[in-house]
Amino acid sequence: MASRDWPRIQDFPSATRTKLIDSVKQLKKENVSTLTVLVMGKGGVGKSSTVNSILGERAIATGSIQLQESRPVMVTRCSSRYTLNISDAKDPVSAFTLHIIDTPGLVEAGAVNYHVLDIIKRYLLGRTIDVLLYVDRLDQYRVDSLDQQIVAAISDRFGKEIWRRGIVVLTHALLIPPDELGYDEFFSRRSQALLEVVGAGAKIKRQEVRGAIPVVLVENSTRCSRNENDEKIIPTGIAWIPNLMKTITEVVSNGSKGIKVDKNLIDGPNPNQRGKWLIPLIAAFQYFFIVMPLQMLIETDAEAERKSLNK
Ligand code: GDP
Ligand code: MG
Repeated sequence: MASRDWPRIQDFPSATRTKLIDSVKQLKKENVSTLTVLVMGKGGVGKSSTVNSILGERAIATGSIQLQESRPVMVTRCSSRYTLNISDAKDPVSAFTLHIIDTPGLVEAGAVNYHVLDIIKRYLLGRTIDVLLYVDRLDQYRVDSLDQQIVAAISDRFGKEIWRRGIVVLTHALLIPPDELGYDEFFSRRSQALLEVVGAGAKIKRQEVRGAIPVVLVENSTRCSRNENDEKIIPTGIAWIPNLMKTITEVVSNGSKGIKVDKNLIDGPNPNQRGKWLIPLIAAFQYFFIVMPLQMLIETDAEAERKSLNK
């Protein structure tokens, strides 16, 4: 199936488009010609809207529950050799392929929806997740145990290594913080709180999470301000779409491995339950040190009984 070209001229201001192309070229330099981005999070946080913003078009329905998919949706775009201005004839015409996988919200009736997670996992069979965008909103004031359970569930299903390829994406970046807090301070508190949750949920050491998992701001609303080059900017002045793509590129290049979703990951033990290899050892231990001595005792008793009966 032929996929649409990205980033198209008509969908982005040229300054944004140039930066997106730079990121793709950077990825190509790292020998990444296919990039698979998985988007997960609670419902209504702006996952689908963020996908649309990255694509520069309304590829996926957003907003009302009725319009939301109950299954993952993959959108594929490619950057042609002409878009990237590559003259190398050895490079295929569609020199770079971007897959973005949007998913249904992971919470139902106030609890983690493990069923959806398993649907997502099966949907991904045969693919490698290069980046996980874990989406939440900036304009929330607290994290709770449910957030931690979501992270734990993702880690349980995909292995906690997925967070090495993770980016925390905060939508609604156009927020005006409460009086006493400046924007940067508010952002910093919200990201710290979420990173703590990721650390606790995925059982990763705090210091490993802090430096390693980037937190990026997103504003999908049409009210988003623009800079002199017509690029959508967040209150810190950053053109956020190319910034998100740049962060994705950095995460892909951080030396960690993508998460390969193979039959093993789907049918095998959940990857996070390490220590499972101990189970046969424990069984063996129990057999030799508990069951066998018991049997011997029983046998000696039985023998003694037989002897006494024979008397
Ligand atoms: P999803 O369920 O996570 O896919 O969330 P959607 O992308 O469908 O967004 C849910 C609602 O939030 C929609 O009405 C969006 O227009 C709105 N929304 C999403 N992102 C933003 C954002 O960054 N800022 C604002 N103001 N609204 C947003
Ligand atoms: Mg959605």
